[in-house]
Amino acid sequence: MNYVIIGNSAAAVGGIEGIRRVDREGLITIVGEEPYHVYGRPLISYLLEGKTDAERMKYRPGDFYEKNGCELKKGVAAVKIDAKKKTVALENGEVMPYGRLLIATGARPFVPRIRGLEKYEYHTFMTLGDALKLKAKTDAVKNAKVLIFGAGLIGLKCAEAIYKRVSEITVVDMADRVLPSILDAESSALIKAHLESRGIKFLLSADVSPDDFQFDILCVCTGVTPETAVAKDAGLEIGRGIFIDKNSRTGDPYIYAAGDCTESFSAVTGRRGVTPILPNAYIQGETAGINMAGGSAEYDGAMPMNAIGFFGKHILTAGIYEGEEIKRGSFAAASASDLSSVSACTLKKLFVKDGGLKGFIFIDDFKRAGIYTALVRERRDISGLDADALIENAGLNFYPKEFRDEVLKRRESRQGIYAGENLL
Ligand SMILES: Cc1cc2nc3c(=O)[nH]c(=O)nc-3n(C[C@H](O)[C@H](O)[C@H](O)COP(=O)(O)OP(=O)(O)OC[C@H]3O[C@@H](n4cnc5c(N)ncnc54)[C@H](O)[C@@H]3O)c2cc1C
Repeated sequence: MNYVIIGNSAAAVGGIEGIRRVDREGLITIVGEEPYHVYGRPLISYLLEGKTDAERMKYRPGDFYEKNGCELKKGVAAVKIDAKKKTVALENGEVMPYGRLLIATGARPFVPRIRGLEKYEYHTFMTLGDALKLKAKTDAVKNAKVLIFGAGLIGLKCAEAIYKRVSEITVVDMADRVLPSILDAESSALIKAHLESRGIKFLLSADVSPDDFQFDILCVCTGVTPETAVAKDAGLEIGRGIFIDKNSRTGDPYIYAAGDCTESFSAVTGRRGVTPILPNAYIQGETAGINMAGGSAEYDGAMPMNAIGFFGKHILTAGIYEGEEIKRGSFAAASASDLSSVSACTLKKLFVKDGGLKGFIFIDDFKRAGIYTALVRERRDISGLDADALIENAGLNFYPKEFRDEVLKRRESRQGIYAGENLL
């Protein structure tokens, strides 16, 4: 079999490793627009902070492609899929036939209409290339004042990355809180206060233009949007992302898709949606690879979860925040104004609805996180459990044997994909 993979990131690596679990012989060609060996995208902020370098950012070792019998065409984009002829055309004019195709094109920065933006040069913060450009800029402009549009994950990671390289950072957003897609209002207030204690300024609920500020460097980090251009040409079903089933199949039997470019079923709600996080990309890619090679694999639905930290404060979240809230921790709304003590605060929240744990938010308190993750993912019935016991003492022994066995099995099979999953 002749496999072609478009994209060269987490979902592509999952695809390669999935294929090789079934087929050791078939030719795998990867077409990657970026001119690099595969790297951990979340690490670009650590590069600017000086905590890592290009070598240590590699998502797989230098001999990964060779060891897996792959040809990597890097620095070249795929421009068209001809699903009838089963070929992929590249921007350099090459046309590649495929037996099975995996689209792993990820996401692009989403830049909304911002008044006056067209007058300014601005940076985005998604790729190693973006990080290197921002590094060069912050080297060139001493004591820069930086304006960041976007108080989501990428905007705040950008702020953390350049913090020691610039003199002032202001983050603006139309939303009324930081990390609105990851945190509820209270946990968001804790993270905002923690960042303010480091001197980062915020202007939220703000419909503003860059014209309203004085700055030396402008960054636009207002979210991501699935990259679906080549899939559109191939006539695949596309909503917000390329639609895939639990086998990572598209509607075309020879074409699979995985990662941030896709829309799939949520493990928590059962509804279709985009889940742009790294563990999801890898697992969908691995599932695709196994099936492309003639094996049989299903992923158990995309799971919204995040393991992320800012200036030493760590956040772990999963699922959705609906239903009754069970809470512990030292953070209360009143602490938000006391910036000297807020960084030491912890917060642990569980959200329970219809007899199940729907989601959680943990800040600097991760006890039993793996068990809670499994309860959310597997939609376990916890209606017989007392709320206090659930939040205070949810050790494995607290649950039936069948559940304990499943948690342990998952721990063994998923280790190494992503740090957040290793908390099991
Ligand atoms: C700053 C930052 C921090 C993050 N932190 C976290 C985190 O803490 N936890 C977490 O879970 N996730 C995090 N993410 C998200 C995570 O990086 C993504 O979910 C993950 O990288 C998705 O992998 P992917 O393979 O689907 O796509 P991507 O990583 O987006 O890669 C897709 C690749 O395909 C290439 N491509 C696109 N179109 C073409 C084409 N036509 N031809 C050839 N190549 C093409 C692109 O250039 C790109 O290299 C972060 C992302 C950023 C930017």
